[in-house]
Amino acid sequence: MCGIIGTSSNYSAYECYRGLLAIQHRGQDSAGILSFDGIVHQKKEKGLVLNIFNKEELSKLEGSKAIGHVRYPTAGTNTLCEAQPFFLSYPYGIGLAHNGNITNYQELKKELEEKHRGIHSTSDTEIMINILSEELMKNDTFNAIQATMEKIEGSYSTVMLLPKKLIAFRDPYGNRPLVFGERTNLNEKAFAFASESVGLDVNDYSLVRDLLPGEAIVVEDNNVEKRSLCPKGKAHCMFEWVYFSRPDSVIEGKSVYDVRINLGKNIEFEGEGDVVIPVPDTARTAALGFSEKYGIKHREGLIKNRYIGRTFIMPSQISRDVAVRDKLNVIKGEIRGKKVILVDDSIVRGTTSRRIVSMLRQNGAKEVHMVSTCPPIKHPCYYGIDMTTEKELIAARSTEEVASKIGADSVTYQTLNGLIKAIGLKKNELCMACLNGNYPINIPEETMKSLEKTREIERDLAS
Ligand code: SF4
Repeated sequence: MCGIIGTSSNYSAYECYRGLLAIQHRGQDSAGILSFDGIVHQKKEKGLVLNIFNKEELSKLEGSKAIGHVRYPTAGTNTLCEAQPFFLSYPYGIGLAHNGNITNYQELKKELEEKHRGIHSTSDTEIMINILSEELMKNDTFNAIQATMEKIEGSYSTVMLLPKKLIAFRDPYGNRPLVFGERTNLNEKAFAFASESVGLDVNDYSLVRDLLPGEAIVVEDNNVEKRSLCPKGKAHCMFEWVYFSRPDSVIEGKSVYDVRINLGKNIEFEGEGDVVIPVPDTARTAALGFSEKYGIKHREGLIKNRYIGRTFIMPSQISRDVAVRDKLNVIKGEIRGKKVILVDDSIVRGTTSRRIVSMLRQNGAKEVHMVSTCPPIKHPCYYGIDMTTEKELIAARSTEEVASKIGADSVTYQTLNGLIKAIGLKKNELCMACLNGNYPINIPEETMKSLEKTREIERDLAS
């Protein structure tokens, strides 16, 4: 998961910066902004947006159009070479930032290398920019994007800069989110694209709509041209509503906050409890919905240290337990002697759930009933979400076994119907491949194996 922004305004780079701050939750590994004003200006670094850019740096990013990116490392190398946006000087100068995963990466890389195109990173964005570069030599902008879409497979929401043009396009299934906004003030017509509507809100852009699957939008001067290039259906990632996106975002016309309230209300819980406690932060909204439906009081029994970012990879089991303790603390009075209903957005490997349940028990909880607002995650994601490998997913077991593994008295999952109803889109408009194994976008066997292998190696290194 990553976040992207594109702006066309008198304060382009500054607005990209503010937009990136708003979507920082989508990736904390690296961030970058690229602008054009005849020559290219770019800054990208590893780290958080706030630490990379300052007033002086932003003033150097001149030009009326800019794109920005925050990166969350998925499987693969994790160096500054993978930081985005990417830039290629041929044919006119292309800047590109993307969120998603190109599933036929290996095949396309081989083809490009046979044509003596140097690929210098493990990033699939470098593959995409090279293909676009080849197509732009033969075609106009829309035809070049269409030809690129026909070659690449996978999920991609993309912002691109060409001299004088800000462009956005979305994969043929609209798997990853991308919204379009506009603003008119002081006689200036300004336009922006963002992974989430909060990236528009902070700069006072009005949300016009989501890009359609397979659609491209080109902004040049004050003109906006929209074309449907390669639509194949709809497969919006359900996990955006469950976990990734900010609750104040609106995706595909559905408020993330409202969906999470409904997720809490749609849980079919048969046990008993004295208090509903969310695992902060994502599960807070769903816990409100759950509490409202069952008439059980909602309390903040777990407090997150918001100043702890990503914890270091610690070498032993003991130190990873310490990492959870660093992040979360318990309000003992809300826990002691109570039957706690612990609401979390999802249970993936079960390791964090086990640590939290154990923490609640150590602090005197009489019973702990785990509720997941997401149905059981049984399959890996190959579309850019670094969940885990098939064999590490805890949900392959029965709910009783999962409860015993994480030390809870019971486990209740959301149902598939409950999830679909909460989002409010049709079943065939959603990607739920990690839940039901129906992958809507083709994934070559080679890609599945290589991603699984990389994830296993990374997991081994971390243990
Ligand atoms: S497999 Fe799951 S996480 Fe991946 S895109 Fe589909 S719904 Fe989202």
